[in-house]
Amino acid sequence: DSIRLVQFDKYCRVEGNRIKLPNGIGLVKFRKSQDIIGVIKNVTISKKSGHWYVSFGTERELAEKPVHPSKTAIGLDLGITKLLTTSNGETLKPKNSFKANQVKLAKLQRQLSKKVTFSENWKKQNRKIQKLHHHIANIRHDYLHKITTSISKNHAMIACEDLKVANMSRSASGSMENKGRQVKAKSGLNRAILDQGWGMMVNMLEYKQQWQGGLLIKVNPRYTSQTCSNCQHIAKENRQTQAKFECVKCGHKANADINAAKNILSAGHAVLSAEGGCNKGRPMKQKTSDIREKVA
Ligand SMILES: [Zn+2]
Repeated sequence: DSIRLVQFDKYCRVEGNRIKLPNGIGLVKFRKSQDIIGVIKNVTISKKSGHWYVSFGTERELAEKPVHPSKTAIGLDLGITKLLTTSNGETLKPKNSFKANQVKLAKLQRQLSKKVTFSENWKKQNRKIQKLHHHIANIRHDYLHKITTSISKNHAMIACEDLKVANMSRSASGSMENKGRQVKAKSGLNRAILDQGWGMMVNMLEYKQQWQGGLLIKVNPRYTSQTCSNCQHIAKENRQTQAKFECVKCGHKANADINAAKNILSAGHAVLSAEGGCNKGRPMKQKTSDIREKVA
């Protein structure tokens, strides 16, 4: 559903809000939602539920390394009922764009089932469903952008769990840590949607931190939910229920997610000091965002 044209210079050019595409396509108008900063390196044309989009990958050299305006650090615990919990004790609920549109979607799907498969009416109905799916995805995407922009602007260092490691160790059976109660939500489709949302969120945080001159540190998720953020004692018994954390050693009581977020932050600090601070020697290449411009 999408094509990326590299060697932009050779085959394409932008004239105002029009782009010249190769292979006899010619000039195509698009809605320019923001200025294109830097040299365009590639262009991606994509189609999503009947709409065409164009996005530009650009490159520019920075005179100076950006310096993050803030000096604070924050740990994030990603969850299911609460999308994220910060080490400061703030929580954010997932935007349930699906729930809000669930009734509508169910109705459309019921109507679809009554139509003759692959008939014109069936196709029309199917397009309506695709459109709604697209709308739902847009709401979720927009929400994630708002959250990540705000966190990235306010904190120079963000620590979160390394999802790749987390996915390997935290199976859907909830074997490793005491997150077993969430098994149902974590299995199957729900799990896939959540993972995608988390992955997208971490990805956004990563490039936004890079833009701001901040850091995103992915820490090993091991024991983050079983460790006492007060005395560092690790025990399965610390976690009596899904929500409550009570240390069997020092008696520290806390909300389990906040406790985990604090441990994630500590782990982030540990990684940072082990690496000798700052992202020395790391390439300065900036990641491009994934903003798509709608073709008019
Ligand atoms: Zn303790």
